[in-house]
Amino acid sequence: MAELLQVIRGMHDILPADMPVWHQLEDEYRALAESYGYRQIRTPIVEKTALFARSIGAVTDIVEKEMYSFEDRNGDSLSLRPENTASVVRAGLQAGMLQDQQHRMWYCGPMFRHERPQKGRYRQFHQLGAETFSIAGADIEAELILMAARFWKRLGLDEIDLQINSLGSSECRRRFRGILVDYFRDHTAALDEDSRRRLETNPLRILDSKNPDMQALIEAAPVLGDSLDQESRDHFDELTDILDKTGVPYQVNQRLVRGLDYYCHTVFEWVTETLGAQGTVCGGGRYDALVEQLGGKPNYAAGFSMGSERLVSMLLDQGKAREADGCDVYLLMRGANSVALAQQLAEAMRDHMPRLRLVVHAGGGSLKSQMRKADKSGARIALILGEAEIEAGTVALKFLREDRPQAEILQSEIITCMASLLGSN
Ligand code: ATP
Ligand code: MG
Repeated sequence: MAELLQVIRGMHDILPADMPVWHQLEDEYRALAESYGYRQIRTPIVEKTALFARSIGAVTDIVEKEMYSFEDRNGDSLSLRPENTASVVRAGLQAGMLQDQQHRMWYCGPMFRHERPQKGRYRQFHQLGAETFSIAGADIEAELILMAARFWKRLGLDEIDLQINSLGSSECRRRFRGILVDYFRDHTAALDEDSRRRLETNPLRILDSKNPDMQALIEAAPVLGDSLDQESRDHFDELTDILDKTGVPYQVNQRLVRGLDYYCHTVFEWVTETLGAQGTVCGGGRYDALVEQLGGKPNYAAGFSMGSERLVSMLLDQGKAREADGCDVYLLMRGANSVALAQQLAEAMRDHMPRLRLVVHAGGGSLKSQMRKADKSGARIALILGEAEIEAGTVALKFLREDRPQAEILQSEIITCMASLLGSN
């Protein structure tokens, strides 16, 4: 036998049996986003590598080490998208949408990062996200946070805590950068290799290092909060005021900087202790610099992104996952011309009940073996077209999950009968 090929390390199949919880997550997210007036956007999974180098920043883990980049047949450098924000901005600019008009958009789909696979960290993973444009204030940041809070509530998830911080204006960040470089220069010996390199290029990113050996040094580093100007403070105060008044608990975490370079003012993360090391289920904030960085006129932008796999784990762990359910009806048949008659009846039912989940048995076999398949299908009702029924112009109806007597119904009345049993499906 030929050798079985395996899925790529760090990537996963989502099998039919896993699907109910994924549908639950994605259906709820779509309904939520639409209820806040967000419209969906879909961008290609592959983009020019330059898009991510220019947006995420060349000196980040993502662009330096985690991107799936390759040359296509024309010799262009392309990458599988590691995140969706840059693509949304590119698409918005290309479509001429980002010229002062306000936009609220949502997305959902796979992202790719060549990270070390572990629980909650994969090489293909999925994100649910939202992006807003041309809205300058803390009001939209609060809306994004309220939307996430409502999402946890709708999913029935507990123990997800909000952490927020302000990175201030680009001016504040520039000032803070100087202070930070001075601090880390005094401790060069304690820096790991990555951080030493970043000291020259992107010192703020050192604060986001996951290296345990660096944590003490990072803990003792100066905090950005002390470098905020009045305008940045007012912006942040407005956000916390809305959160206070709408009853969303939060913690100000001065160490929160977020991995991507384009953030300013508000950044936030929703974190849980229940998932072990990979506990961030949602990250977001304001990224005003990005639109201009990608060639547009300066514009305001804020958004977030959630990790679907981590939320699916939480739904399963907390017993909040939707149960797998089978079909409504399984149609069995036996005897001369029974297959065509069964398909005829099935199509008539589908004409009248478009949402009916009806499996028509295929592959022949005895009624007994067909009945076993009907049972396994999870169907509530079996419809049986045996020789006697065909002769009499009837169908036998058997309840598979309820203690109700078997019935004999006229084929001509099957639609009325099924509609009354299953509702206007
Ligand atoms: P982390 O600190 O966990 O690496 P990040 O800051 O790199 O996260 P973002 O780029 O902000 O993550 O992505 C938003 C969300 O997507 C994360 O909060 C997380 O839930 C999820 N996520 C990010 N990378 C992965 C991954 N490799 N596998 C699964 N989920 C991921
Ligand atoms: Mg990461």
